[in-house]
Amino acid sequence: MAPPRISSHPILVWCGAALLAGCGVATAATGPAWQYSGEYGPEQWARMRPEWTLCGSGQRQSPVDITSAQRQSGAMLGFHYRPEALRIVNDGHTVRVRYRNGSRLLLGREALTLQQFHFHTPGGDRLNGEDFPVAVHLLHKGASGQLVSLVLLFRLGEPNTALSELLPRMPTRGLPEQTLAGSLFDPSRLLPRSTAHYRYDGSLTAPPCTEGVVWLVMKQPLTLSAAQLAQLKALFPPNARPVQPLHGRVVSEGG
Ligand SMILES: [Zn+2]
Repeated sequence: MAPPRISSHPILVWCGAALLAGCGVATAATGPAWQYSGEYGPEQWARMRPEWTLCGSGQRQSPVDITSAQRQSGAMLGFHYRPEALRIVNDGHTVRVRYRNGSRLLLGREALTLQQFHFHTPGGDRLNGEDFPVAVHLLHKGASGQLVSLVLLFRLGEPNTALSELLPRMPTRGLPEQTLAGSLFDPSRLLPRSTAHYRYDGSLTAPPCTEGVVWLVMKQPLTLSAAQLAQLKALFPPNARPVQPLHGRVVSEGG
């Protein structure tokens, strides 16, 4: 089945822009800014603005707890990522690294361009109820505007060598995005060996919770050390939305 498409409706264009800026970031528009907890936390998002009602009423929301999946043939992933100097920022919600070198994800016959990756603590998406301390979301965009979020989940364990390279370069919040000359980073260094993955139809994980986003959750968790987790947690507050009901959605799995 063809993946759902993001239309050119103005709100969705805005959503796409928000996603590419880091899974939704507070704007200068009227009203309070959304948060991941407290008075303006996830339970309140749908009531905060009319254009955010999907956060409460949506039937295809992210993240989710994946407890079963149906095998899907021909759902192979291919990675054509390339190194680029780090363009990195800490916006107070997350640390984000932006790409514009044409790194691509092949999803079946569709090629999608890597826009950025960013970090979540805790991870958000769960596998059989397991909550992961960290996730990386790699966001891609197809020529038609289709958004694909590829999720890497991390457990506590051995130090992660890619994170060892990234963590010392992560800025504190409040600084403008900076390009670190001489700091080439290949995003494929983050990937697990196996391309086995789950796939489901989901949404942005922050207001306006726009649906029509393809989620690919890699099955093979990676590891990071307790010290690396502590370093990451010091950079921004917890930033995971609670898991959302599947509402009858079927998760598929591919190789
Ligand atoms: Zn995200």
